[in-house]
Amino acid sequence: MSSPTSASSTDTPKTSNFLRQIIESDLETGTYAQRKWAGSPGDASHHAAGQPDPAKIRTRFPPEPNGYLHVGHAKSICINFGLARDYGGVCHLRFDDTNPEKEDTEYVNSIIDAVKWLGFSWSQPGNDAPYQASDYFGFMYRAAEYLIEAGHAYVDEQTSEQMRANRGDFGKPGVDSPFRSRTPAENLARFREMRDGKHEDGSMVLRAKIDMASPNINMRDPAIYRIRRATHHNTGDTWCIYPMYTYAHPIEDALEQITHSICTLEFEDQRPFYDWLMDRLCEGGLLAHPAPKQYEFARLNLTYVITSKRKLAQLVYDHKVSGWDDPRMPTIVGLRRRGYTPESLQLFAERIGVTKSDSWIDYSTLEGCLREDLEAKAHRGMAVINPVKLVLTNWDDVFAAQGGASHLEPCTQPALPHQPEGVESPTRHFTIGKEVWIEREDFEEVPPKGYKRLVPPSIDASGNAVPGSKVRLKGGYVIECTGSTKDANGVITEVLATVVPDTKSGTPGSDSVKVKAAITWVGVADGVSAEVRMYDRLFLDAQPDAGGKDFIESLNPNSLKVVTAIVEPSLANAAPDQKFQFERHGYFVADRVDHVQGTKPVFNLAVGLKDSWGK
Ligand code: ATP
Ligand code: MG
Repeated sequence: MSSPTSASSTDTPKTSNFLRQIIESDLETGTYAQRKWAGSPGDASHHAAGQPDPAKIRTRFPPEPNGYLHVGHAKSICINFGLARDYGGVCHLRFDDTNPEKEDTEYVNSIIDAVKWLGFSWSQPGNDAPYQASDYFGFMYRAAEYLIEAGHAYVDEQTSEQMRANRGDFGKPGVDSPFRSRTPAENLARFREMRDGKHEDGSMVLRAKIDMASPNINMRDPAIYRIRRATHHNTGDTWCIYPMYTYAHPIEDALEQITHSICTLEFEDQRPFYDWLMDRLCEGGLLAHPAPKQYEFARLNLTYVITSKRKLAQLVYDHKVSGWDDPRMPTIVGLRRRGYTPESLQLFAERIGVTKSDSWIDYSTLEGCLREDLEAKAHRGMAVINPVKLVLTNWDDVFAAQGGASHLEPCTQPALPHQPEGVESPTRHFTIGKEVWIEREDFEEVPPKGYKRLVPPSIDASGNAVPGSKVRLKGGYVIECTGSTKDANGVITEVLATVVPDTKSGTPGSDSVKVKAAITWVGVADGVSAEVRMYDRLFLDAQPDAGGKDFIESLNPNSLKVVTAIVEPSLANAAPDQKFQFERHGYFVADRVDHVQGTKPVFNLAVGLKDSWGK
């Protein structure tokens, strides 16, 4: 079978972890070797009529379609699809849409896009659509009737307050419901009435009959079905009873012949119920052997970031950000718009690994992965973020023969200066003329110690004349600073310099004049104004929502600064979503939404050149 689950994979070496060890051991002992797969999800008899499963393992990624996926989900996607890829398995994308109230097709589509964009696929021959848990409502109902008939479930008519009070707590065993001893026949009749809409929402629930004295509160007769009159996005008004998540999820896994059901640690206490339910439905012959097993790993906690769909939704609905895809959002659409690549997120997931203990990952780890990915890929380009004009006062004379003041000299630079041996870099083309833009900070009348950029001529302490400094305009000429002009408030309006003839980069003898620095610049003639969005962390607090804190309070008021920069032609002509290194400034991406190629460039700061977070 050819790599069924994923097309792309990073070259990162895979580090072993407890999940890999479990899978390797299962493969070795053949735990799942006898399984059959009928080509689609189904019960025991459905699969019994199928073929030996060509997938060695089956994992799943089961989002609830009630929001946009975030970087924590990216971790889960990379784990589940990555394990399937690495062990000859298949990973299912399954919409966990058993809760009728919260789902939306907008979210369904965004989840499909996110998984594909991350480089993964759930498609199997003849089986392209993702699975939906709501397609299993029929089986879930049948399984509930079976549990009732076998004496493993009962309809409880206590009020929710009574139920809560009778559940007990850690130190106190629960008290049996007065309805617990009803006969299967009575329960079945009641349950059918629930299904047929004969009872009010919330008036009764179906509960598993396990052990009201269990030290694990989840085993004290958990509710498995409730009455809820709500229109479901898939099943419409077919049902007025809906299964509880803890009941639905193991069944979904089993119908899909999942072998390793991987979830986050908060479900650890649910595992006994998961196993209990699987045992009951397997012994009843409803589900195929061997049943799936649940394994828990630590969810991703990332500093300065919120990873809760509900809280992210609050940021969107309260207009704290521009939308789910605001480049400051940790959603996959936000990260993508910020300039993150699928490879950088895969690398991140690999690097943080899989553990069983909760911890916080430093945000700089995520940024480091993006930098690492873009370092070799992103074309270089020059952009002047805080521009001041530099006038080359001798230009007319030096280029008199070529047209004087209006002469533009063509320049080139490699777009990828660090190519491996034998691989040629694409070339950037731009021009230099009498006027260019430079960064305001590249000129200092009174330079701090060690300053190597543009400094005007001066008189030193002993009264000697010191000439202006010489620097190279990167990819252009060496120039010598001669002074500046200022407005009435003393603000520098122009920096003045002379061009040193015959020093153009890449021409013979160009390095005969030694300089201490090369500065970035963009020609006034071919530079293009660009909107550049300088992003900073969205929160000032490293753990914005830890311990129930109000995360809105730690929103960073300066998380977005919009500036007008001047960019070289190769940047202005970028395709939307193209990533660049603006030399000396960092990595930027042409905004997927607002950037117009050639005429209205808009860039987002993806990540600075080096880690500035720790400082
Ligand atoms: P949220 O709290 O943001 O709504 P969720 O767990 O309710 O997240 P689901 O749609 O149920 O969201 O999640 C789908 C899968 O992604 C689950 O298997 C879940 O365990 C996993 N997941 C969610 N958040 C994280 C996280 N921060 N780190 C790792 N995995 C996560
Ligand atoms: Mg959830």
